[in-house]
Amino acid sequence: MSKGANPISSRRVAVIGAGAAGLVAARELRRESHSVVVFERQKQVGGLWVYTPLAESDPVSLDPARSIVHSSVYSSLRTNLPRECMGFSDFPFVPRPGDESRDPRRYPSHREVLMYLQDFAREYKIEEMIRFETEVVRVEPAAEDGRKWRVQSVSSGCLTDEFFDAVVVCNGHFTEPRLAHIPDSWPGKQIHSHNYRVPGPFKDQVVVVIGNYASGADISRDIASVAKEVHIASRTIASEIFEKLPGLTNLWLNSMIESTHEDGSVVFQNGKVVYADTIVHCTGYKYFFPFLDTNGYVNIDDNRVGPIYKHVFPPALAPGLSFIGIPFNALQCFMFEIQSKWVAAVLSGRVMLLTRDKMMEDVVAFYEKVEAKRYTHRLRDQVEYFNWITEQCGCLPVERWREQEHSLGDDRIFTQCDTYRDQWDDDHLIAEAYEDFAKLIQ
Ligand code: FAD
Repeated sequence: MSKGANPISSRRVAVIGAGAAGLVAARELRRESHSVVVFERQKQVGGLWVYTPLAESDPVSLDPARSIVHSSVYSSLRTNLPRECMGFSDFPFVPRPGDESRDPRRYPSHREVLMYLQDFAREYKIEEMIRFETEVVRVEPAAEDGRKWRVQSVSSGCLTDEFFDAVVVCNGHFTEPRLAHIPDSWPGKQIHSHNYRVPGPFKDQVVVVIGNYASGADISRDIASVAKEVHIASRTIASEIFEKLPGLTNLWLNSMIESTHEDGSVVFQNGKVVYADTIVHCTGYKYFFPFLDTNGYVNIDDNRVGPIYKHVFPPALAPGLSFIGIPFNALQCFMFEIQSKWVAAVLSGRVMLLTRDKMMEDVVAFYEKVEAKRYTHRLRDQVEYFNWITEQCGCLPVERWREQEHSLGDDRIFTQCDTYRDQWDDDHLIAEAYEDFAKLIQ
């Protein structure tokens, strides 16, 4: 750990967002004696886990004037990872026996995750730091060296202008959809998974679902329960593939779409042709920070947010500006927690960063190793990344069972996509996890 020379100092810090990342960031910042204001545009904590039956007014979320809905959660959603590995390290996500409103399953419903985050906020009295229904509309450096920040927010139509020593961005990255290109001449309906809630509207339709990762696999099965036919288009399989998927009589897996036509037909690379009513884009999301103005220093290029050192600090603006939760394909809550501990410790002066030039050198060297810009934030070795951060701030490394549950769980999404939430063979990891939890709960 690189220890700071300065005594611990307290800063005034703005946290944007009260989802899982913002909640734990607030806790860690306060633990490090900072004074924290959390800005949250929704009425409650939980971020994307706050389910709403409402969808945006534009089903593909392209219209800049559309109504914005934050959550991308659909009604039937259960977690895609086992609950043991999803919680924060010292506040395990365990079933709550005796409370019938709770879902004790290993892969519980979205509501259980929301209740877990509400429990966490209550336990650590985080709500007292949050300004609800307050949207941050602008963040900009108020001093050239990034040591003061101006934050403008709007609540009940009133604009407030304030200054902070630091801003921690925790606004999530599952709200701004990425779409596959379908020419306007195709006459059917289109929707992005961000706006998918229930299968009812697809009754008796022929539906093409683009994308076969967690959401695509779930949504195609959900829709197939009422639709006439569902055809998944996947870019990760060989071009000749055409296969009926198990468990349902009307669900097929195809290679990617080759072309679409004015008569409503969709032609796949495998040569199959279907006349579809709707295309559902399960094609992921884009990073989006509409409130952030760094004079072009931090920008998004092909889904690379840069430049940022170790996915957290933009070198020229560090430590005043930081991001929690940018990497994907990683243990989310654990990562949010250790990134937050690092930011809190750097801001207090307990842990030092490299010089800005050295951080930039590290960023440049890292970019040289990344195979494509859009994969910049996909962690290739999350254990290495986590261990580097935990070493910086002197906290415990990731537990073996947590990392293995995540990697086995991630594999199961592909290998047994229709059964993975109820069938598994890693009971030994559950036992290891609960041994650790018992020490915390005593
Ligand atoms: P969010 O939960 O999105 O929170 C961001 C918060 O910032 C929101 O409350 C929002 O209102 C607020 N905000 C945004 N902009 C502003 C602004 N300008 N001003 C004020 N407030 C603002 N991960 C898992 O570990 N397991 C799973 O099973 C799992 N399933 C998922 C399923 C889906 C469909 C999706 C999309 C993601 C899933 N994830 C899962 C990943 C998920 O991203 C993380 O689990 C985590 O909850 C994200 O937390 P966050 O705080 O980064 O973002």
